[in-house]
Amino acid sequence: MPQHTVRSLLKVDAFIDGNWIPSEQRFSVYNPANGELIAEVCDADPALAERAIDAAYKALGPWQAKTAKERAELMRAWYQAIVANKQALGELMSREQGKPIAEAVGEIEYGASFIDWFAGEAERHHGEVLARSAADKRSWISKQGIGVCTAITPWNFPNAMITRKVAPALAAGCTIVVKPAQLTPLSALALMQLAAEVGIPQGVINMLPSSQAKAIGKVLTEHPRVRKFTFTGSTEVGKQLMAQCSSGMKKVSMELGGNAPFIIFDDADLDLAIEQLLAAKFRNAGQTCISVNRVLVHDSIISEVEQRLLRALAELQVGPGDKEGIDYGPLINQAAIDKAQKLQQQAVDAGAKVLCGGDVLHQLGPLFYAPTLITAVTPTMAISQEEIFAPILALQQFNSEAEALELANATPFGLAGYFCSSDYRRIARVAEQLQCGMLGINAGAISHAYNAFGGVKESGIGVEGSSLGLAEYQVTKTITLGGFE
Ligand code: ADP
Repeated sequence: MPQHTVRSLLKVDAFIDGNWIPSEQRFSVYNPANGELIAEVCDADPALAERAIDAAYKALGPWQAKTAKERAELMRAWYQAIVANKQALGELMSREQGKPIAEAVGEIEYGASFIDWFAGEAERHHGEVLARSAADKRSWISKQGIGVCTAITPWNFPNAMITRKVAPALAAGCTIVVKPAQLTPLSALALMQLAAEVGIPQGVINMLPSSQAKAIGKVLTEHPRVRKFTFTGSTEVGKQLMAQCSSGMKKVSMELGGNAPFIIFDDADLDLAIEQLLAAKFRNAGQTCISVNRVLVHDSIISEVEQRLLRALAELQVGPGDKEGIDYGPLINQAAIDKAQKLQQQAVDAGAKVLCGGDVLHQLGPLFYAPTLITAVTPTMAISQEEIFAPILALQQFNSEAEALELANATPFGLAGYFCSSDYRRIARVAEQLQCGMLGINAGAISHAYNAFGGVKESGIGVEGSSLGLAEYQVTKTITLGGFE
């Protein structure tokens, strides 16, 4: 198994048809913890995107012709190479993205788990033999890889958002072209180095770092050879890209924004509720699409919850990702800081109160935001309606189960939801009525390769992971064979 260092995994060119392709035009990648330049990366243009799609198209036939076992074995070799190099991959990710190294290594394991899982699914998937509809005929449904796929991924999970798409594509017998986020292309390119080393064939996976998101996006969504497009990012961009896919009737899956409620009922186990709330809120400094956005607390326990959260937030350690023992690192860029401050200020102007934090931790650097607790938030404030994507806990109150449900569902989004209760009847009622694709009950960490990750309403279409994830990269073909006596 090749053993790498961060340095030997640092790749700066596009990866097309198994080759590293440099370009004159380059863009810079910085460390958000200290502003240092990490690398100047190939800035792929639309012509390179077309070349990548051609490579994926050329690789498609031979990849589909492999047996399921051959594909699964190559995927498992890739999985093992990633796990064997998780420390170096984690350090590289922490450097470009800012999350603590331990959390980054955790993401590498999580990301790799999708490759392992879908290697298994590649071997298990099957079609269906149908009941005989006529004496002289036999019919069955076959499931086949859809063809060339394209993907655009975000910066908050620079590894896992890629493997969650590439793994099911490969398992289904598809080839793929990915444009990673401009802010975090290095984790994506390091994955390509390992894929090449373990023998994933040329052209099966192609990686296009680029600062020209819109122009590349146009090629990836409109090119006639592309059959499926998959995206993780904001709802606004997702809608535009889905519209672009419609001209070629391409299959889409979309993992978009959320506005997760976390309801604490008066019968909740508060020790557990606070622990799970912190896990769901402060991972990646609040920059995940399933981060808690609105904490809804029953009137009768609001003071108790505030006091407990104040004590817990005072304990959180903030610092650069390579410092031992930190809970979270910097936000990704100045725009993220500006947005957090604007949402907070608007809330305060409308009557909310900051109980702790609320500022940039200047002694650490311009992108570090203090653990923040805001209370007396109302549903009409922008902080309740938009994704905060920062380490800010925003507390609202309710006084009945019906009100909690109404508040929780009053959003066009429906990605994750959470609630805490010890009453099994309430658990069953609320679980049925919350409008979300993923629900944590007395649980704040809900992602796993076995679970179906996906949203309802404007949070997306389709799922990633689980036994359902493979179908997103397949087409069904009903075959009828005649001529029987
Ligand atoms: P966020 O940056 O909040 O994660 P975005 O939706 O802006 O969400 O970005 C997610 C991904 O979409 C990134 O890879 C980004 O480069 C890409 N992207 C942003 N705007 C466009 C666009 N108009 N067309 C294609 N891709 C885009």
